[in-house]
Amino acid sequence: MSIELSFRRWRAARPGACQRALWIDQALALDSSAPWRALEGEQRFDVCVVGGGFTGLWTAHRLRDLDPALRIALVEADDCGTGASGRNSGGMSHWWSKLPALLQLLGPEDAKRVLLASIALIEDIEAFLGANGIECEFRRVPSVWSATATAQVGAWNGMFRAAQTLGLAPPYRALAADELRAMFGRGPYYAGVVEERATRVQPALLARGLRRAALERDVQVFEHSPVSRIRGEPGRLVVHAGSGRIVADKVVLAANAWMAHLPEFRSSVVVVSSDIVITDPIPELLDRLGMRQRPGGVNSRQMLNYGGLTPDGRVYLGRGGGTLAFAARIGPAFDCSPRQAAEVMEDFRFLFPELREVPLARAWAGPVERSTTGLPWFGRLRADARVHYAMGYSGHGVAASALGGRILASLVLERSDEWTSLAECFQRARRGRYPPEPLRYLGGRMVRAAVARKELAEREGRRPARLDKALARLAPATITDSRRHAP
Ligand SMILES: Cc1cc2nc3c(=O)[nH]c(=O)nc-3n(C[C@H](O)[C@H](O)[C@H](O)COP(=O)(O)OP(=O)(O)OC[C@H]3O[C@@H](n4cnc5c(N)ncnc54)[C@H](O)[C@@H]3O)c2cc1C
Repeated sequence: MSIELSFRRWRAARPGACQRALWIDQALALDSSAPWRALEGEQRFDVCVVGGGFTGLWTAHRLRDLDPALRIALVEADDCGTGASGRNSGGMSHWWSKLPALLQLLGPEDAKRVLLASIALIEDIEAFLGANGIECEFRRVPSVWSATATAQVGAWNGMFRAAQTLGLAPPYRALAADELRAMFGRGPYYAGVVEERATRVQPALLARGLRRAALERDVQVFEHSPVSRIRGEPGRLVVHAGSGRIVADKVVLAANAWMAHLPEFRSSVVVVSSDIVITDPIPELLDRLGMRQRPGGVNSRQMLNYGGLTPDGRVYLGRGGGTLAFAARIGPAFDCSPRQAAEVMEDFRFLFPELREVPLARAWAGPVERSTTGLPWFGRLRADARVHYAMGYSGHGVAASALGGRILASLVLERSDEWTSLAECFQRARRGRYPPEPLRYLGGRMVRAAVARKELAEREGRRPARLDKALARLAPATITDSRRHAP
């Protein structure tokens, strides 16, 4: 079967109107590798990867590992690493928090297999970074999964129960009240579990490092070359990008939220912004307040807060569940939304009462494609099996995209190995559909407003309205939400 895939017209982030993620500016300033070049004319490759974020770059590397002679092109609309990969919070985590969902959707054996793969992967990444000299502030630091309202207390119990069922010991330890106070001072922390050696990175440095290493490994990287359409013809796929085109045998779609409108994905993901605010470096103040060692982490809201401290003493906080995209259209609010930023600033003042007077230096946003289960999936398009994809990381893709790279490389090369067998697990875990537009957008706005009212009531110690609680249950699963796995 042959296909014609149309991408939305590329909309570059407008400098001035919104701020770019600080990490991206830092990484581009330090990057001394080859400057970008656009695609021109017609070029022939074995594989063409669309999208230069973590998924696309890891896939190119793993293809190169498996086949040193393969002709690989990677085509990116902007600069590599300027999508979600350069804007995120840098939490490189395994899937312990998803264990209840994995157990319910896959059964004990495969749930365990996927979980263990997600843990092993982090060492796999660390080894790759070492071997390729990629400096990205990779660090193992304590991270706390907390309850910042009494209603969130015990959000992690499902994970502990699932682990017990499987005879596994999670790397989390419950925090006693005095430990919580010592860690979070006057912050509203009611309970929490700590992982002592969680992994964090500066994400844009990682993405740019992967790009530099890809160039050194003879991957042909074309940037500022947005793909407008892909046409399947007998014996070849034609990728139209910028003013050129690539003819390839296989294509990998790694454009993340920017391809959520394609027919194969549109009923399985919604695109929602995640928004971050950050201070200037304030190391002396943090020292004075005894906050320099404050661990980062996440709370257990549905509109999840995440964040931490940077090595140079900035404090940042993010929140998921921001702007909802109508029909997966990624507008300017997905680069920076003053409205969402103001709400996240309020969260910041609430969670860091000691820093109430500290001005926030910058705010930005990025798109997250949330699947119905909170789990990604990887595969070949039903409409044309020469086209492969990763989709649905649901805000949990920093490490998972490296797994995506392994899986996609094996699928493209038609191998039958541990990675393709994991791909089958993820396909099996797919459940549910979102309603079509405009119902999805209108319903989504209603659900989001209900979640916001419910969480405000919980924060203020009031009882949420019953209707709000019922509507909030319809929201898609978050990273830390082990209660609901499908709408
Ligand atoms: C604010 C925020 C915070 C997050 N925090 C975390 C976290 O702490 N931990 C975690 O695990 N995950 C987190 N995530 C999710 C994580 O960032 C993503 O899951 C991951 O980066 C996905 O990588 P990707 O390569 O698939 O997508 P992306 O990095 O989005 O890459 C897709 C690329 O495709 C390009 N593209 C789009 N359209 C076209 C086109 N037509 N032609 C060519 N190229 C195109 C884009 O420019 C982009 O570079 C967060 C996400 C956001 C937005």
